[in-house]
Formats: sequence, C-alpha cells, structure tokens
Amino acid sequence: MHKKLILEIRANEYAMRDGNPHVPWTPEELGAEADACRAAGATIFHFHPRTPQGAPGLSYDTYHAVMNRIRAGSDILVHATLGAEQQTPDSSVRLDPIRKLTEDGLRPDFAPLDMGSSNLDLLTEDGTDFATTETVYINTTRTLRFFAESLRDLGVKPYPTIWNASQLRLTDVFHRMKILDGPVWASLTMSEGPAFCSHPGSLAGLNAYLSLIPDSLPIEWSALVYGGSLLKLAPEVIARGGHLAIGIGDYAYPEEGAPTNAELAERVVAMAKDIMGREVATPDEAREMLGMS
Ligand code: ZN
Repeated sequence: MHKKLILEIRANEYAMRDGNPHVPWTPEELGAEADACRAAGATIFHFHPRTPQGAPGLSYDTYHAVMNRIRAGSDILVHATLGAEQQTPDSSVRLDPIRKLTEDGLRPDFAPLDMGSSNLDLLTEDGTDFATTETVYINTTRTLRFFAESLRDLGVKPYPTIWNASQLRLTDVFHRMKILDGPVWASLTMSEGPAFCSHPGSLAGLNAYLSLIPDSLPIEWSALVYGGSLLKLAPEVIARGGHLAIGIGDYAYPEEGAPTNAELAERVVAMAKDIMGREVATPDEAREMLGMS
C-alpha cells in the first residue's frame, strides 16, 4: 500500500487572467473553486486574497470573507498567505491577518515560511530583458523564527517554502532547535519561464533537492513549479513518494487548454492512481500524516 498523496491546489498567487481566464480572485470565486477542487479530490487549497480587479487584496475583510466562504463549503485544508509583498520591517504586520482569523474562529491550517531572502526579479515575456531589477524579498532568520514560533502558538502548521537546496539546511537547523515540529511539511520550489529564482523545474532540479535532504530532517515534501508546468515532473514526484502543489496561480497551462484548478486536480488524482496506485489523502488523512492535531 503506497503512501497517500497530498494534493495542494495553488489557486491564484498574483496571476492575472490574460493567460488563463479561470484564475479566481474574489471570495465567492475562491470559495467556489475550493469546493470544486475538494470535490475533485484535492487536499489543501492555497490562496492569496485579491481585489475584484485582481490586485493584491490584503485587507483583513477580504481575508475573512475568503476564509469564511471556504470553510462554509467543504473540509478542504487551507494554506493562507503571509503577504510577501508587504515589505515591512515589522513581521507582526504580516502575521496579523492569521492571528485575527484565529481569534475569529477561522484559523487557516497552514501558513508559509519562505526560508531565506532572494532576488525575485522576473524576465519580460519574451525573455530578452529584465521586467524588474530591484525586487528583493527579505526573510531574515529572526523573522522566520518569529513566524514559526508564533504560528505554532496559534495552532497553524508552518509550511516552509524552499527556494534552493541551502534552505533545506536552515529548515533542518530549525527542526533540530525545535523551532519546527516534525514531520516538517515543506514545498520544494522550482521555477521556469520568467522566474529564475530557484531550481529549474526539471528532473535535475528535483534531484538536486532530493539528494540534499539532510538525514536528520523528517520531511514530507511537495514539489511545485512556478512559471511552468508541473505535469511533466509529476510522474517522477509521484513515484518518489512526494506530494504535489499545483495550480493555475503558478502557471496558466495553455498547452492543457487553460484549465480550471479543479480540472488540474482531476488530472493529478487520475495520474497518481495510474502511475503508482497512490490515492489522494483526505484532509483528515493529511492531518494525521503531518502530525497535526
Ligand atoms: Zn502563494
């Protein structure tokens, strides 16, 4: 009996609708999409609050409306964002929505920890120039420790996002210092297209991660590819006992006919079953696998 596969849907990030018209933005759109993804078998739903015009919508009212709608629709586990675009030296500002949601009885199940600082510049669409040259995403060790400890206090499982293999080492250090509880649930991030800030979304990019997971780190890992298709790599991830974090927030999937998130979920559920006979975990099963109460 193979380990069950945790399927996370990365619903929208900051994607606009020029590549895929199905990107959900509003609380109602996100809620309906979460329902459809759960019905298709998905385990976790990751969202960014957006305005009706698609801009980042990090007001607490929007967070609250999205969480409220998702919780009313299904038991899907929820991974909320910490608002990376809020470049503030005061980390507690980024944590505020998660804290307030918890107080209001709408606690998300996971929140991300981006395990380092990076240049996040993108290329232009044709790849011949930089779209930006000054985008630095700062996550100091102190900030990460603050997030990890605060999230644990709130009962939210920290979800390290790993941008390169060295960040696996910091994740291992955090676990050994008991800042993170095991098993650690982490996403191995790769990128393609306009984004070049992490490993390439290839077998070599994945293998580099897998060959460098510290022996001391108890980890359940998901693979994600930002800016490119994860479907090419998914069979290998499934065969290697990994989990999948996929969605039209990361990539529009034009070669698949610009599907909805739920359609992608259906594809992956079928693929996991075909390739290794792996069933997709229910939310309760995933909680158990990840050591969540
Ligand atoms: Zn995100």
